[in-house]
Amino acid sequence: MKDGMEGGCACGEVRYRLATAPMFVHCCHCRDCQRQTGSAFVLNALIETDRVGVLAGQPAPLPVPTDSGKPHRIFRCPSCGIAVWSGYGGVEKLRFVRVGTLDEPTALPPDVHIYTRSKLPWIALPEGKPAFSAYYDSSRLWPAASLVRRRAIFG
Ligand SMILES: [Zn+2]
Ligand SMILES: [Zn+2]
Repeated sequence: MKDGMEGGCACGEVRYRLATAPMFVHCCHCRDCQRQTGSAFVLNALIETDRVGVLAGQPAPLPVPTDSGKPHRIFRCPSCGIAVWSGYGGVEKLRFVRVGTLDEPTALPPDVHIYTRSKLPWIALPEGKPAFSAYYDSSRLWPAASLVRRRAIFG
């Protein structure tokens, strides 16, 4: 992983740059993520909002209903509608950046697979990669440096 990874939407109006590597990368197999992406899972890079620099365009937040009832806003390019990141639970300091919108998505493989209870049966998970049927205890799994960063957000 390197600093300064860039990404954007499909039409090119929205461009962004991650100042550093994210804290952690989720591969989420929950039903919400399947519905929202129209696919089998979502890849989310968890990173501080102030490390997501918008280079061009203005991603517009749209609230979406969730199974949990907790607020979730998806930030989309106002022109092509592509989702570039999410804000969950009203936490403004944390963004879930859609790894697939990076110019080089291979740079950020998932650190954990979550909500595998609704994983589509024909998806095979790599051996040795942490996987949980629902959510997980980040204090046990995240690298120490990432936990320090997370504490700076949540106190
Ligand atoms: Zn666009
Ligand atoms: Zn999910």
